[in-house]
Amino acid sequence: MTTLEIKNLHVLIEDKKILKGFNLTVKTGEIHAIMGPNGTGKSTLAAAIMGHPSVEITEGEIWFDGMNVLELEVDERARAGLFLAVQYPSEIPGVTNAEFLRASINARRDEGDKISIRDFIEKLDNKMAILDMPEEMAERYLNEGFSGGEKKRNEILQLLMIEPKFAILDEIDSGLDIDALQVVSKGINEMRGDDFGSIIITHYQRLLNFVIPDFVHIVMDGRIVKSGDASLAKQLEKEGYKGIADDLGLNVAMEE
Ligand code: ADP
Ligand code: MG
Repeated sequence: MTTLEIKNLHVLIEDKKILKGFNLTVKTGEIHAIMGPNGTGKSTLAAAIMGHPSVEITEGEIWFDGMNVLELEVDERARAGLFLAVQYPSEIPGVTNAEFLRASINARRDEGDKISIRDFIEKLDNKMAILDMPEEMAERYLNEGFSGGEKKRNEILQLLMIEPKFAILDEIDSGLDIDALQVVSKGINEMRGDDFGSIIITHYQRLLNFVIPDFVHIVMDGRIVKSGDASLAKQLEKEGYKGIADDLGLNVAMEE
């Protein structure tokens, strides 16, 4: 079993306090949903775990598989088995999707253990079929001209190809119609198992009808204010973030 442990994390972005004492422990075999109003620090958490240069960590620790994550370079974090599906995937003209995937897989493997072209193609065909992706998408430049839904599907293709130990999926459901949402959910459920852990960041409950989380955490103002099981997401859908904040006696500004 592998554990990702976030302890008392405090993060600044451009000198503004965003995370204010964030605590969370996730084990492989578990799926945790992180929900919260916009602007509350969810993407900042993902950026801090993956080592994005825009975040400044002023206090706290992140441990993964016995390693002090904050001392690892970004590529070392990926090689350790951490994966991030970003909220806004970048377009990389000049690099095809297939080239990118093969390089990503091989970057995590030792010399002498690189994936063969044949195994790669077989795996790619297999995973693209699961996600209902047309074959030609493999040869298109990475995310270039992809629709919002295609980009999200492509993030899940990366997840299935790279098979990380641990994935943070940031608003993987945003902008998806119901068919795409089901395909994306199928992909995530495909990864589910004892050797995989995930933090699913989402604003809405809808994805969690298809990917049932083991735990749900509500984040407001840079920290977890309430945790529960999947039923907490349903409660949230009924009451809204404002209702939950009122229940907890919190007075937080909300953009929603
Ligand atoms: P969420 O993902 O919960 O919607 P974010 O983590 O993206 O929230 O943002 C938290 C806060 O940090 C917001 O107030 C946002 O405006 C601010 N922020 C995020 N990224 C930047 C940035 N690059 N520069 C300045 N402020 C930022
Ligand atoms: Mg966000």
